[in-house]
Amino acid sequence: MLAAYTSEYDKTRNKASALTIAEMQEEISSNKAKIAELQGQLDALEGNKAEEQQYQNILMDQIDKIHENINLLNQEIDSINADIETARFNIEMLDDSILRQQEEIDNNVELFKKRLCNMYISGNENLASVVVGTSSFYDMISRVEMVNRIASYDEQLINDILADIEKMDQSKKNLETEKLTLEMKMEEQEKRKEEKKAEMEILNEQMAKTQAEIDRIAAEQQRIRENQDELAAIDAEFDAEIQAEIARQAAAAQAAYEAEQARLAAQRAQAIQNYDYSSQPSYVPVSAGASGFAWPAPGYTYISSYYGSRWGGFHGGIDVGDAGIYGGAAVASRSGTVIQVYNSCYCDYPKDGYCPCGGCGNYGNHVIISHDGTYSTVYAHLSSACVSVGQYVEQGTVIGYIGTTGWSTGAHLHFEVRVNGSRVDPMGYVSP
Ligand SMILES: [Zn+2]
Ligand SMILES: [Zn+2]
Repeated sequence: MLAAYTSEYDKTRNKASALTIAEMQEEISSNKAKIAELQGQLDALEGNKAEEQQYQNILMDQIDKIHENINLLNQEIDSINADIETARFNIEMLDDSILRQQEEIDNNVELFKKRLCNMYISGNENLASVVVGTSSFYDMISRVEMVNRIASYDEQLINDILADIEKMDQSKKNLETEKLTLEMKMEEQEKRKEEKKAEMEILNEQMAKTQAEIDRIAAEQQRIRENQDELAAIDAEFDAEIQAEIARQAAAAQAAYEAEQARLAAQRAQAIQNYDYSSQPSYVPVSAGASGFAWPAPGYTYISSYYGSRWGGFHGGIDVGDAGIYGGAAVASRSGTVIQVYNSCYCDYPKDGYCPCGGCGNYGNHVIISHDGTYSTVYAHLSSACVSVGQYVEQGTVIGYIGTTGWSTGAHLHFEVRVNGSRVDPMGYVSP
């Protein structure tokens, strides 16, 4: 048997709101372990209950058998009672008969007495006169004979009746013996019945005990289930709190990120506004190659990435990425008209595959110059552009300053050559 389960969970001990997510997750797994442990206790109790029920079944069988026994005894007792009743009735009948026969004897004696009296009254004062008063000897003889005959007849009659009474008395004695035997038998049956009832009483007590045990187990199981439910409810609270905490943290991170980006944008806007273009050259002398295009990053020669497949994607230009290139001048590779300027990207450092500024298309701040309707060139990831759309620029005009805006992992100039809008390998047109 298991000890009664008494553990209570201190709900105030671990207030979800006071814990970190990791702590809450630890509480959840600890609660889950407790729930599993309680399940083990439940299963053990279920086994105990099954044993008790098996015992109950055995008791039920025994009780049924005793019930059958008692029923049989009752039938026998009923039957014996009926027999006793019959015997009693027969004894009463015999009593009546004996009484009637005795009355008959009395009557016959009475009649005999009367007949004798009548004889005396008819002529003689006494028995002697019956003899003396006769007119002849024959007459006397016949008179005496008659008296004898009458006496003999009556005697016979009385003897017969006495024999009958004797017989009836014997029958009555027999019946009384039988009745006595039956009564003893009944007593014995009643005693057996009492014994069976006592046995049943014991079984009923055992039954009540095992039922009480089953009830106790069920109550204990109920308590354990309530504990399990309580733990599950605590876990649900933790789960909800974890979700809320994650949402809170995400919202806080998002807010902090947005605040930081806004701060950077303001800083950049201020920097662009304060930028002293007069101190920067607006033109760098460059020499065009045979293609008519010039190197767009004068003074920088290190190509960190060529045109072609890169990182499972496609790199549509070349990257010039010398150390210390940040802030260097990017110049028009060939003369033409500025057709696109984007100067609002504030995102300077490694990004997760896209630029969140919302408009640079990962190019960061950039300039596109159309040369003669067929060719165009792209200058990307500038810290800022210093030309405007519609402006005509000569080859070598500074169009912006090299930076790392947009989707970029460090300061470099991304340079593209497009033919009728399609990107081609810039190395076919320029060389450092
Ligand atoms: Zn951007
Ligand atoms: Zn690039």
